[in-house]
Amino acid sequence: MPQQTSIYEIHDDRFRQLTVASAGLEELYCGCRWAEGPVWFADLNCLIFSDIPNQRMLRWVPDGEVSVFRSQSNFANGNTRDREGRLVSCEHGSRRVTRTEIDGSLTVLADSFEGKKLNSPNDVVVRSDGSVWFTDPTYGILSDYEGYRAEPEQATRNVYRLDPKTGELSAVVTDFGQPNGLAFSPDESKLYIADSSSSHDVNAPSHIRVFDVVDGTTLTNDRVFCNLDKGLPDGFRMDVHGNLWTSAGDGVHCFSPEGELLGKILVPQTVANLTFGGPRKNRLFITATRSLYSVYLATNGASLS
Ligand code: MG
Repeated sequence: MPQQTSIYEIHDDRFRQLTVASAGLEELYCGCRWAEGPVWFADLNCLIFSDIPNQRMLRWVPDGEVSVFRSQSNFANGNTRDREGRLVSCEHGSRRVTRTEIDGSLTVLADSFEGKKLNSPNDVVVRSDGSVWFTDPTYGILSDYEGYRAEPEQATRNVYRLDPKTGELSAVVTDFGQPNGLAFSPDESKLYIADSSSSHDVNAPSHIRVFDVVDGTTLTNDRVFCNLDKGLPDGFRMDVHGNLWTSAGDGVHCFSPEGELLGKILVPQTVANLTFGGPRKNRLFITATRSLYSVYLATNGASLS
């Protein structure tokens, strides 16, 4: 039986080394319709996150103030930063992935594959070689709530890799029900990808798969990394030890590099995504339905954003 202390559900004693027993869950903001896409800007000391149905992106700063970073966000969802610090965003409304340049203009990185529109890019990560990897489920075209209803033009819901030199888009996985969050292992030898298709199919799995990355371009050795026992996996991030911290129906679940459930952080609203932030990257920012939460941990995020 897992032991529950305050907000933590401990399934393995190793979880105690990753958490701070006295650190509580702080609600930093409430007022979103569906909060998503948190990304940390250490240089600006702020967190940017999406409020998808409200067509806006918000900015939280440590004094507690939240302001609109971008209105008319094209129903932006997942965000990350590339290795030059630029914001990279998935947009449901325009069915594309964009990069925000230093002058504020947007560059479209991808909006079609094999001459047909993408479904609705959901989440994105940039590898150290500059390649951009993103998922393309259909959530943003299922209704007019988080995008614009449309029939998919793609036959499958793919995971794509955008080549940093040629701009060429290639489908690296094509057999997901609904690919969603994704992250590389700290050494970038593995790519983890969530399948959230149980959102619309009770018989579908709620799991995260892991692949070996070959030459930074293709994926092999597909296997299931972990199954969630509550809700579905949406966005997630890795810590420096290779533990995976994922959104789930009852909060945040932490899995060891071997895929063992170490523990949970219980959150009162359904969690969609999370990221590590703060000067030491030891603060977990959690976007959960209407709210943004944070909790300090005894571990540190592996990625820049
Ligand atoms: Mg997502």
